[in-house]
Amino acid sequence: MERTLSIIKPDATLRNITGKVNAMIEDAGLKIVAQKRIRLTKEQAEEFYDVHKDKVFFPNLVEFMTSGPVVVQVLEADNAVELYRKIMGATNPAVAEEGTIRKTYALSIDKNTVHGSDSLENAKREIEFFFSHVEIDH
Ligand code: ADP
Ligand code: MG
Repeated sequence: MERTLSIIKPDATLRNITGKVNAMIEDAGLKIVAQKRIRLTKEQAEEFYDVHKDKVFFPNLVEFMTSGPVVVQVLEADNAVELYRKIMGATNPAVAEEGTIRKTYALSIDKNTVHGSDSLENAKREIEFFFSHVEIDH
């Protein structure tokens, strides 16, 4: 069993579709083993997306991720990291595959509904960023 970190982004909480996204996650065989709705501070968003700090879209990304509440979640399955990336679809919904979360719900390349860890190593870091062991070790 593997775990990955998911974030349902502000465009989705704003449209009240977090349940619809969760249904797609569960239908794909991923189990939501921890979940909470929070509002990120600017500092937290900057730290979480530190890897992108030199990109032109970084200020916009931080502004968007702090523009409303997010739902952070830990997902569990065999091969969870790769499986979730697959069902999320491409970063840009215009080129995402049919049936993926982003193709179905994303509004644009920035308002793209979900985040998912891109490696097992980053999943571990990202889960520890948001969750303490008492919230997930069950
Ligand atoms: P992913 O979320 O698919 O792993 P990246 O890690 O490359 O994508 O980028 C992180 C997030 O930054 C994206 O999900 C998206 O919200 C935003 N982003 C990425 N590229 C762009 C871009 N060219 N313009 C605006 N926002 C972008
Ligand atoms: Mg990424």
